[in-house]
Amino acid sequence: MDKRSLYDGLNKLELELENSLNQLGEMKLALQEIVEKNTTLELENQRLRDHVRELNQVAEAPAEKVKQELSKSRMNLEKIYEEGFHVCYDLYGSRREHDEPCAFCLEVIYRESGK
Ligand SMILES: [Zn+2]
Repeated sequence: MDKRSLYDGLNKLELELENSLNQLGEMKLALQEIVEKNTTLELENQRLRDHVRELNQVAEAPAEKVKQELSKSRMNLEKIYEEGFHVCYDLYGSRREHDEPCAFCLEVIYRESGK
């Protein structure tokens, strides 16, 4: 292989690698969007299920049972939080950068029931 075609070949390879890198970046962004969207939907779903359960339970369920169900949904929120996502209302479903702690999330997860 002469120098000229070696040089051309390297240039071509460099371009291809740059393109691949750009594609990789775009795919990472797309994946992040999907994961965040999924988490938001999961939270929304959870919230709606809690609401339906509340509506069903208001009349007849014993207080103890309601308390159990509440702590179950709180554990779900805690799990999502520990997986690195916000569960607070403002940032809801977005990623916690570098697992930064969030006082609002903790408030949502650990606040006293009935408030
Ligand atoms: Zn938060």
